[in-house]
Amino acid sequence: MLALSVCATPALAKPQWAIAIHGGAGVIERTDMSPETEAAYRAAMARAVATGSAVLERGGSSMDAVEAVIREFEDDPLFNAGRGAVFTAEGRNELDAAIMDGATLKAGSVAGVTRTRHPVSLARAVMEKSRHVMMIGAGADAFAASVGLEQVEPSWFFTERRWAQLVKALTDMGLPIPPRPTGAPAPHAFTPIPDDRKFGTVGVVALDTAGNVAAGTSTGGMTAKRWGRVGDAPIIGAGTYASNQSCAVSATGSGEYFIRLTVAREICALVQYKGLTLQAAADEVIQTRLTALGGDGGIVALTPDGQIAWSFNSPGMYRARAAAGEAPVISIYKDEP
Ligand code: ASP
Repeated sequence: MLALSVCATPALAKPQWAIAIHGGAGVIERTDMSPETEAAYRAAMARAVATGSAVLERGGSSMDAVEAVIREFEDDPLFNAGRGAVFTAEGRNELDAAIMDGATLKAGSVAGVTRTRHPVSLARAVMEKSRHVMMIGAGADAFAASVGLEQVEPSWFFTERRWAQLVKALTDMGLPIPPRPTGAPAPHAFTPIPDDRKFGTVGVVALDTAGNVAAGTSTGGMTAKRWGRVGDAPIIGAGTYASNQSCAVSATGSGEYFIRLTVAREICALVQYKGLTLQAAADEVIQTRLTALGGDGGIVALTPDGQIAWSFNSPGMYRARAAAGEAPVISIYKDEP
């Protein structure tokens, strides 16, 4: 007698937790990168992924993981967020950040803050401690102080490398060079980093053991930005979005294009309404639509069922991912996994 065995394909086990991180996209080429600089970025990404994984591993929430990782980045001068942020044309650091909870669709965001050490925590406070979703400028900093978030002198965010980038950008644009900010250290030598486009925004998406996703993004925006310019990072649905119905996304790149395409929400909509896999949705929006519009940059994303994706159309993107039971992956260049 012939025994017929029916072999069902085992469903892919959903990881207990997962995290994906970016540290900005841009013209990041192997040929321009010194071994020391590359090692510094890889180490920072590894630390970030370890911080986030530790929160999730012990059962912490995706919101806590996102905030913890971004706070570390905001203190790391390698990245364009918090200390190390790029300068406006007027020589100021104006910081944008957002965070969103996929379980509740609650969100908080801030733009143009100049005194709050951790803009991501301020975004979270806007979400949790106010009736609002978005605050800007001096009002946002005043709210931060009122809820006890650490305030610093604006010169806290100053780095020589970003100042040199500003001077070069303004010179190229034929614009006047502003005086060095009050309280900035005397000019000193620094290690230039080959990132022509001055990106370096940070973002995190996480899935926790309760099945909830969250996303957060923090940035100084674009070098030599003018007139109170705000990028995509704090715009919910553009640079940051999270919903347990679809996915969580954090973006980096030329913000004006990400705003016009509502990149983060668009990726989630393709997952939610068209049933695309996360990677297909991300590639459709980044590789096809963003590229067609002339924008550049990328995203990291994940779904409540544990799919993780990244997609970028620039030569590189600092990025890392990890999931329960899987070794972390840390990558910079396009030809890496
Ligand atoms: N997306 C950010 C902005 O436009 C910049 C970046 O990601 O580098 O403000």
